[in-house]
Amino acid sequence: MSAKDAPPPLPEPLLVEVADSHTHMDLQSGTVEEALVKAAAVGVTTVVQVGCDVKGSQWAAETAAAHENVHAAVALHPNEAPRIVLGDPDGWSRQGAREGGGDAALDDALTEIDRLAALPYVRGVGETGLDFFRTGPEGIAAQERSFRAHIEIAKRHGKALVIHDREAHADVLRVLDEEGAPERTVFHCYSGDAAMAEICAAKGYYMSFAGNVTFKNAQPLRDALAIAPLELVLVETDAPFLTPAPFRGRPNAPYLIPVTVRAMAEVRGIGENELAAAIAVNTARAFDY
Ligand SMILES: [Zn+2]
Ligand SMILES: [Zn+2]
Repeated sequence: MSAKDAPPPLPEPLLVEVADSHTHMDLQSGTVEEALVKAAAVGVTTVVQVGCDVKGSQWAAETAAAHENVHAAVALHPNEAPRIVLGDPDGWSRQGAREGGGDAALDDALTEIDRLAALPYVRGVGETGLDFFRTGPEGIAAQERSFRAHIEIAKRHGKALVIHDREAHADVLRVLDEEGAPERTVFHCYSGDAAMAEICAAKGYYMSFAGNVTFKNAQPLRDALAIAPLELVLVETDAPFLTPAPFRGRPNAPYLIPVTVRAMAEVRGIGENELAAAIAVNTARAFDY
């Protein structure tokens, strides 16, 4: 393993315990137990494990059932729904999807997400939303239909809605308005600017900041963080992706949350303990655990 691929060192522990509001432990190296022990050692004592397809959502639910401090969110990712409908053999998971794809295949997969969303340790429905970066025009209709279905599932079960919004801000906000957003809605890996943060604040949407808030070119993100109401701010890794600076490009994991929390505290001009305390309360409120 070259230094470039090596896991970053353990950061100084946070004195106030926080949650990683969005992670993918199934895509990280090592066991769940190892990830949780390492995270807890630096004050990250709770994680929300997010599923992106039927199989990953089943795994998230099982993992949350087995670990007290793991909560699950279940969904078909915005890039997964079109693959199911279009019958893409390279889809992340063909499990739960009908041979040949089509709307019926998406309905089958949504039925399983609906079943999982009813489980007590599943605290969120997501990540769902719109992604115009990875999905082309041929998949947009399926993506939006899936997003609307997830909103309905979240509301019916009283679970938090976890939004994935990539280059689709206006349309995500429009669909939420049209469907009526659930009481607790979280923009995961918040990627809007300060103007959008004002809209989210007015609607009471949570904004979860990931490691990219530390990137040099991310000033609009820091401007958004600077004006977001403190009671709506969350932190996440989205690991294994989006490793915070100065470890960008190396594998991310929940134990790196303190690096991002410290960068965020600096942006807001408050102490890391004050920010961590707010984040801890906010995450528990958002996911109702
Ligand atoms: Zn995402
Ligand atoms: Zn994610």
